[in-house]
Amino acid sequence: MKFLSTRNSNLKISGREAIVKGISEDGGLFVPESFPSFDIMENLDLSYTDLAHKILSLYLTDFDSQDLLKIIEKSYASFEDEIAKVTCKKDFYLELYHGRTSAFKDFALCLLPNLLAYAKKSLGIKDKTLILTATSGDTGKAALEGFYNTEDIDILVLYPTEGVSSIQKAQMDTTDSLNSKVISIDGNFDDAQTAVKKIFNDKKIKEELKKENIYLSSANSINIGRLLPQIVYYFYSYADLVKKEKISAGEKISFCVPTGNFGDILAGYYAKEMGLPVEKLVIASNDNNVLTDFFTSGTYDANRELVKTISPSMDILVSSNLERLIFHKSSDEIVKEKMKDLNDSHIFTFEGDFDEFLCGYASEEETKNTIAKTFKEEGYLMDPHTGVAKNIVDKLELKKTVILSTASPYKFSSSVLDALGENISKDEFENINILHEKTGVKIPSEIKN
Ligand SMILES: *Cc1c(COP(=O)(O)O)cnc(C)c1O
Repeated sequence: MKFLSTRNSNLKISGREAIVKGISEDGGLFVPESFPSFDIMENLDLSYTDLAHKILSLYLTDFDSQDLLKIIEKSYASFEDEIAKVTCKKDFYLELYHGRTSAFKDFALCLLPNLLAYAKKSLGIKDKTLILTATSGDTGKAALEGFYNTEDIDILVLYPTEGVSSIQKAQMDTTDSLNSKVISIDGNFDDAQTAVKKIFNDKKIKEELKKENIYLSSANSINIGRLLPQIVYYFYSYADLVKKEKISAGEKISFCVPTGNFGDILAGYYAKEMGLPVEKLVIASNDNNVLTDFFTSGTYDANRELVKTISPSMDILVSSNLERLIFHKSSDEIVKEKMKDLNDSHIFTFEGDFDEFLCGYASEEETKNTIAKTFKEEGYLMDPHTGVAKNIVDKLELKKTVILSTASPYKFSSSVLDALGENISKDEFENINILHEKTGVKIPSEIKN
């Protein structure tokens, strides 16, 4: 399997090279040259790690198969109990927050550092790598944990000072690894992401770093090594539902994904292209509803104020991974044209066939009401990101839908308590205990610590 740049499909490199590079020199993102097929019905009984091994082997064909299995097993050993847990209520919840930092980013970020270290070693690259990461809150901590004291790989995280929750801030600021630096910036997530992209494309900085034998790479979902591991849980949840007899073999189901940078839902698109029986992929947004507008009108317009919401990991106006979808639906020439428009005037138009997608957005009030209603009626507690997705599922009256539950409610205790109509303390840490008292839901050990 080779990987191409979304801005130059003649450029073909191996999986290991794509992971090491992170982003293509032409500014494009790496994508697989084709989608291998995978029949989940023949793989129903695999453990999560064996399933991950089978699926990732189809893409990372230049990794030794046994080495890849070892890397996967080592990476997922950090998860509490089940790796991906499916809870069946009226809808199905794919809980992706039982990893080290209580958000779905752990799925890729526990693995990426090990993939990167292996790729560097096997390619004979001795230089130091500096990982630059912009975060809206969850990627930062997951990356800091994943790259904890990694050999020859340092990590620098930028987060918006006012854009993350107190818990997210504390998680990042208290990281005690020797190879990391965490910087909070005046600005929002888009400013942080733009700064990172600028550094990547700055020839002067690159030359300076080259003198010191330092190469830049990325832990954001622009790295294909972030995207591929996320394909696995779409297949895993499907197999789990078949085994629980909630759906029949081969039946098409939908997935509703709280979306920011479009990485998570794009992995769902990859799963569908590989043969997973998918009815619809539902793009759920908060008040920063750029994607809803794009998928309904064909115009992507980032000329608007970023709104701060209770689902901060989705407070994003420039969704990086959309570039990959547009490439799969058109060509490198068209991507270049659209990305130039976006860069020059923060707006572009693209009329594509997006039949497999649905979209919608939830306001703050709607999200809070959904959290309260679902807890009251179904006894299920969710975080605000998941609340956005559940709200869309209810509004669109979707049936047999897997809602990707992307973070533990305890990561956003104050907002969740507020949604439930409870009194909240000014101390966000105290709210963790209050939320536990009110709901009885177990506090993840990472957050407790
Ligand atoms: C990152 C994140 C999202 C959005 O995922 P994308 O891949 O950026 O679309 C949603 N929910 C939570 C909790 C997140 O951390």
